[in-house]
Amino acid sequence: MANCLFCSIAGGEMEAEIVYEDDRAVAFADINPQAPVHYLIIPRKHLAGVNEIEQTDEKLIGHLYFIARKVAEEQGIAATGYRLVTNSGADGGQEVDHLHLHLLGGRKLKWPPG
Ligand code: AMP
Ligand code: ZN
Repeated sequence: MANCLFCSIAGGEMEAEIVYEDDRAVAFADINPQAPVHYLIIPRKHLAGVNEIEQTDEKLIGHLYFIARKVAEEQGIAATGYRLVTNSGADGGQEVDHLHLHLLGGRKLKWPPG
């Protein structure tokens, strides 16, 4: 989708520290990390957010979690633990309107989030 930051990263027009990619998904470092380990996992398909997920996307969403698991293992936080977060809409704190999973770890995370 034109004028979408994460579509540009997935398409290679915008630079990012990519740690995983395949035909359906891309994982890259968050530019403003909130934990020692902070990556974003996105589908190549432009979905603005959770509200736009259709039933036909179920397999794709599952794939994002599988990629998150792989990246967590590769980054050495699978055993120590991590958090997967998807912010949705204004109250959820979503700033980029292209569906993404935050993978956060490398420190003890607080709960509940603010
Ligand atoms: P959210 O607030 O859930 O929409 O998260 C958007 C995330 O994208 C934030 O954690 C930002 O730091 C991150 N972000 C914004 N621009 C970039 C970029 N160019 N490369 C990597 N991460 C980015
Ligand atoms: Zn997009």
